[in-house]
Amino acid sequence: KFIVLEGPDGSGKSTMAQKIGQHFREQGKQIEFTREPGGTDISEKIRELILDRNNTEMDYRTEALLYAAARAQLVHEKIIPWLQEGKVVISERFVYSSLVYQGLGRKLGIEEIEKINDFGTNALKPDMVLLLDVNPEKGLKRKLSIDGGDRLENENISFHQKVYEGYKNLAEFCPEIRTINAERTIDEIFNEIKDIINSL
Ligand code: C5P
Repeated sequence: KFIVLEGPDGSGKSTMAQKIGQHFREQGKQIEFTREPGGTDISEKIRELILDRNNTEMDYRTEALLYAAARAQLVHEKIIPWLQEGKVVISERFVYSSLVYQGLGRKLGIEEIEKINDFGTNALKPDMVLLLDVNPEKGLKRKLSIDGGDRLENENISFHQKVYEGYKNLAEFCPEIRTINAERTIDEIFNEIKDIINSL
């Protein structure tokens, strides 16, 4: 099974990924975690390039292609082999992030971003996408207070607002996306997620 966590920066994706992993492990399943952009040696190098705050001149198309490239490497080097071995794969972010950050945030267009990603991933689709729904302003404040934020996190709030609205719209069109109110306690959020993943 391939499970993806999506949501604005600071929505708690990492925390929930760990909890979901623990839950499956208790059921005797083999788990693999990954994050985007990154997750392989090559993809982590691409991540550094994308998120470097000094790369102020990066063209939006370059950015979109780099995300797609990092993702292609991750899918073919890790995710597909893991799924073939029968493992549960939990990824923080996937194509949906690119659709909203680059497609809508950068205004490159959802269809264009979908095309380059379908090429990169061979149109691999997750079994389930959990969208952690938090007010983007709140999440962002948390991230910026921790480490000053990366290049994308330092975009203005209207960029993040666009991303957030994009996620909400996407959820209406993609049946695999389940939206979860993530402005609650960790236990409350995870209890809802547990019910959803048990139905998988
Ligand atoms: O989730 P994480 O904090 O690791 O994401 C790294 C950064 O990349 C974030 O600032 C996020 O906003 C950005 N991002 C993006 N487009 C994507 C995926 C992530 O701009 N497709």
